[in-house]
Amino acid sequence: MTAKERLKMLSKEDKRSRQLLMLISSLIGLTTIAQAYFIVSVADQIFLGGAALREAVPALSGVLVSLLVRAVLQYVNNLTGERLALKMKKRFRRELVRSFKHHPMDGDNTRTGGKISLLLDAVDEMDAYFSHYYVVMMQSSLVPLFLLGAIFYANWISGLILLVTAPFVPIVMAVIGRSTQRRSEEQMEKLNRFSSTFLDIVQGLTTLKLFGRSKQQQAAVERDSLRYRDATMDVLKIAFLSALMMEFISMLSISLVALEVGLRLVLFDQLTFATAFFVLILAPEFYASLKEMGGAFHAGRGSMAAAERVFEEIDKEEPESWGTRPLPERFTMSFKNWHYTYEDGRFQLGPVDLHCPEGSDTALIGPSGSGKSTLLHAAAGLLKTDGIYVNEEPLRTYREEDWYRALAYVTQHPYIFAGTLRENILLGLKEAGEADVEEAVEKAGLKETAESLPDGLDTVVGEGGRGLSGGEKQRVALARAFLKKPAVILYDEPTTGLDIRTERILKESMEELGRRAVVITSAHRLHTVRSADQIVLLRGGSVESTGTHESLRDTDPVYQEMLHVQQGGRA
Ligand code: ADP
Ligand code: MG
Repeated sequence: MTAKERLKMLSKEDKRSRQLLMLISSLIGLTTIAQAYFIVSVADQIFLGGAALREAVPALSGVLVSLLVRAVLQYVNNLTGERLALKMKKRFRRELVRSFKHHPMDGDNTRTGGKISLLLDAVDEMDAYFSHYYVVMMQSSLVPLFLLGAIFYANWISGLILLVTAPFVPIVMAVIGRSTQRRSEEQMEKLNRFSSTFLDIVQGLTTLKLFGRSKQQQAAVERDSLRYRDATMDVLKIAFLSALMMEFISMLSISLVALEVGLRLVLFDQLTFATAFFVLILAPEFYASLKEMGGAFHAGRGSMAAAERVFEEIDKEEPESWGTRPLPERFTMSFKNWHYTYEDGRFQLGPVDLHCPEGSDTALIGPSGSGKSTLLHAAAGLLKTDGIYVNEEPLRTYREEDWYRALAYVTQHPYIFAGTLRENILLGLKEAGEADVEEAVEKAGLKETAESLPDGLDTVVGEGGRGLSGGEKQRVALARAFLKKPAVILYDEPTTGLDIRTERILKESMEELGRRAVVITSAHRLHTVRSADQIVLLRGGSVESTGTHESLRDTDPVYQEMLHVQQGGRA
């Protein structure tokens, strides 16, 4: 189903607003006819009948009343459209958020800007479909019918002229619309790219400055914004051109009607003045209504491109759901012929065969980009893959909540929420008491940090952990782990950037924490993994070798080489 058909279906779903719109549109058609009728009677009475102003009062009030009624109807019509749009936008945003939640690791997840622009701008662009396009389309398909009926009734030849010329409006619209669609799709894509670049650059401003690359990025922002401007102008150009075409067609056929009516009135004396005037008032109304369709058409087209993107995100298939098997207290985890490829297909990881019994300590080492974090993500159950087993059963057959309750994952960049340090450590864990928090803080090596803060643990830290260093953020995550008493612990380079003393404290408490748990640690410094039960050497996505420090040191040339390099200072 195309985006267009889907939008149509969605708007039809709301039967009440559809019926209301139809009713009001019909009434608008009728009031327009009434208004024309009263204007004609006023002119007929005063100019031809030579009546006094007083006698024309009823007809004059008729004009006034029908004008008022028409304005009110139009207002209610627009309101109905706005309401519908509001309802739909809410619905789309909710579905988008749901989709983002289910696919947090999709593609390049650093491009937050793209998602935000989808959630805000793209959904807003869809507004026009419901609030404008749908309303006007409904109105423009009903009102002209009423007007045409009235004109046919008054003077069938004029009706025939309108009937023959009217189809040119949709024909021109369809021809022009086809090229606008492509262009507004391009425009959307450029806007998307622009938002992504812009947000990424703003986020990385400090780094860019440090490396003296802010000038280049400035040029990139300028280039992308100019491209977006050009794309917008292209779309507008076509919109204006089509408006001009509409104007031309309607003018031409109104003058045809005028010619016909004039000839029959003056030369052949076949029409009364009232009839001729009536037709001449309604003919422009007929075309005005059709032309509105043209304007709405473009608004609708713009929405269509946005809708395409929104639907694409919403339609992403639900990630395979988790099962219902309860998770045992203690367990063994294993990878069997496991592999993973990112959606863009550039990075392939595997095959990995690993056995991690409870209480064991597995270390992943390898240069940056070798796939350590990817493997940890998979072990955390964040990637949709097969080949990971808990007690010989596939990981995803267990209950999701059980799994995440048993898991502690200290990532490289843990997220810190706006709130106090204590709230960030507790993360909603209710059963932990004050003493537990103190202990966790101490074991995570956060005690000194907390003491140095003005309100200790109750100091408010900013969204994203503003005011905390990278290492401190990681230790907050570690403190979370201590409170949780997890059965699986994943560490992603936990000791990077720590001083030796803190590292020693952490090493001890991490050992204590992992005594009965499955522990997997990624590290690029060898001395942190020396005591691991097994070491997995990754390179470019494949397992080079597996073994203990001693066995690898004696047999594996790559490991020997790494040892040599990292001990370079001492050797
Ligand atoms: P490491 O942790 O060993 O440095 P990673 O697992 O982070 O390695 O990354 C391994 C490779 O996977 C890199 O080439 C990286 O570019 C790629 N990669 C990481 N995340 C994604 C993603 N979300 N989409 C596509 N490729 C990714
Ligand atoms: Mg990594």
